Parts: sequence; structure tokens; C-alpha cells
Amino acid sequence: MIVVMENGASEDMVHRVLGRIEELGFEAHLSEGEVKTIIGVIGEGKMELKDTFAILPGVEEVVEITKPYKLSGKQFKTEQSVIEIDDVKVGGDNFTIMAGPCAIESKEQLLQAAQQVKDGGAQILRGGAFKPRTSPYSFQGMEEEGLKMLAEAREETGLKVVTEVMDTRDVGLVAEYADILQIGARNMQNYPLLREVGQTNTPVLLKRAMSATYKEFLMAAEYIMAGGNHDVILCERGIRTFIDQTRNTVDLAVVPVVRELSHLPIIIDPSHGTGKWNYVAPLARAALAVGADGLMIEVHPNPTNALCDGPQSLRPDKFKSLVEQMKPIAEAVNRNL
Ligand code: PEP
Ligand code: MN
Repeated sequence: MIVVMENGASEDMVHRVLGRIEELGFEAHLSEGEVKTIIGVIGEGKMELKDTFAILPGVEEVVEITKPYKLSGKQFKTEQSVIEIDDVKVGGDNFTIMAGPCAIESKEQLLQAAQQVKDGGAQILRGGAFKPRTSPYSFQGMEEEGLKMLAEAREETGLKVVTEVMDTRDVGLVAEYADILQIGARNMQNYPLLREVGQTNTPVLLKRAMSATYKEFLMAAEYIMAGGNHDVILCERGIRTFIDQTRNTVDLAVVPVVRELSHLPIIIDPSHGTGKWNYVAPLARAALAVGADGLMIEVHPNPTNALCDGPQSLRPDKFKSLVEQMKPIAEAVNRNL
């Protein structure tokens, strides 16, 4: 249920409503837009108490939310969310690029990649320290040692850093180093993990599971937001279909659909989406044209020697020319790139 305040309702009136919601044992979520202030009410049995709120001064109306996306949906918050990581913004008019190797392999590899993606036009460095590998015998990541390298790369380049967390027990540790916590496709419905990152103040990049519907995707975001962390960036990374020429099928339609249903930003990962470096650039350009808020791209100083996902990783020069090619598209669709 949401309580919509009248235009010009005073701060006192808003506080009175918030106080009443809490007195009755519900949770309140305040959203102060430029025009309207609305307050989400979360908890069982609230609709019976609808009139209790409707009569409070400054309340215009009390509306039941019929869609399941209470926090991620647009009924509660109509303006697009912009996630701010200091001066780097994701959402709104921005087109934000996250790039870097699939896995952190060594200090040299990461620092070199960081410098190269920065030169190429990325704002955020990606690199996995905890890797979700299909085989337990494959390289699993450098763990905390890798996180330290990531922090060093941030120090050297000024780039923000995003890295995956796979286990509830590691959330505190990864959040000490990361600017954005990545939830991988395989963990999109790991509800304890979603709840745990929902307890932090660190923005979360939530990747869509390989077989998730739009509803399941947004409900996973809802888990994070219900914990109080509203800084969620969605990421389409390709879904499993009957197509076997590419690693996954990039579902570009998710962008307009999410735009219609949610205020959260959404980016595209054409690297995992296609699995082949030569398909990455066309899909990246399409992502910008279709209205995505950014990209996550794997870039490796030497893809042939990569310990993970070499075939889908761009060489740094290719990454740089891709960003150049995207500039006229960004201009045409009014995005800052
Ligand atoms: C990754 O980004 O490193 C990754 C493992 O991606 P996904 O979870 O989308 O497979
Ligand atoms: Mn990868």
C-alpha cells in the first residue's frame, strides 16, 4: 500500500504519517520526488487500516499496490533511479561502462587491464576474486588477495570497482573492498545472499539468472531492496535458449520491459551474453540504442592467456575503438558517454 501526500504537504504532516505507520508495526519507505511525496507501507494486514492513514492531514489518497514489485516497481517511485558511486552515476542520462577481466589473475594483469580500460573510456573496473566456475577443478579466483589488488587498481586509476560475492559469509569482506557488489546469474535466486547484500550500504549489480522471467528478476531485486538497500543495478547477461551458436541469447527486450515496470537502471553484459569477442561490439552498440544504462564488458590484456573467459574477452584496443564507435549513437539517443 502507498500513502500519497498532497502537493505541498508539510514535513510535519509527512512525519506524522511515518510515525503512525511505525506505531502500527509496519515498515515505512519514504520517497520524496520533485512533485510528489509518497510513502510505501510494508507489512501484513495493512489494508484493513487503510482509513487510519487516509484521514491524516496532508494525505491525498491511500492506494493498494497490486503489482508484486513494491520497491522495485514504478507505483511507489515514478522517477528513474540514479545510483551514485561518488562521481560515477548509473542511470538517468548516463551511459556507464564497467570493463575488465573476467578474473583477477595477478597484480600485473589487473593493473595493466585497469589502465587499459580507463584509457578506453570505462568508469568502473570489473574483476572477479570469487569465481563461480562450472567445474570445481577450474581456477576459482584469488579471493581476498585479489580483492586487495582490486583496491590497489582503484587507488592507481581512480576507477570504481565491481566484483562478485558468492557466499553470505563473504559479504562483509567483499564490501570492505568493492564499490559495487555483484550478484552473479547463478545466485540471482539465492535468497539468503540477496538478503545479506540488502543489509549493506554498498550498491548491488544484480545479474539476471539464465532462465529467469522478468518477474523473477525484479523480485530478486525486491529481496535486496526489502533489506533497506535500494541501490540496485540490474544486468541482462543473456538467457539460455535453443541457440547454440552463442553462449547465451541476449534478451534486449528486457530493457524496455524493465523501463515500463521499474525505476531501476539496467545494463547489458554482451560478453557473457554472446561468449564470443567478435559479437560483443554489435551487441554493445545495440544495448546503447535500445536504451540500456550501460555495459559490463570483459577486457583482458592478453585474452589468449586468460584463465577464464578468454574467447569472449576484448583486446584493449578493440574495447577502445568500440567506445569511440558508440559516441555518435550516444549522442543520437541523448546519453552521456
Ligand atoms: C561474471 O560476470 O564474471 C560472471 C560470472 O557472470 P554471470 O554471473 O553473468 O555468469
Ligand atoms: Mn566471465
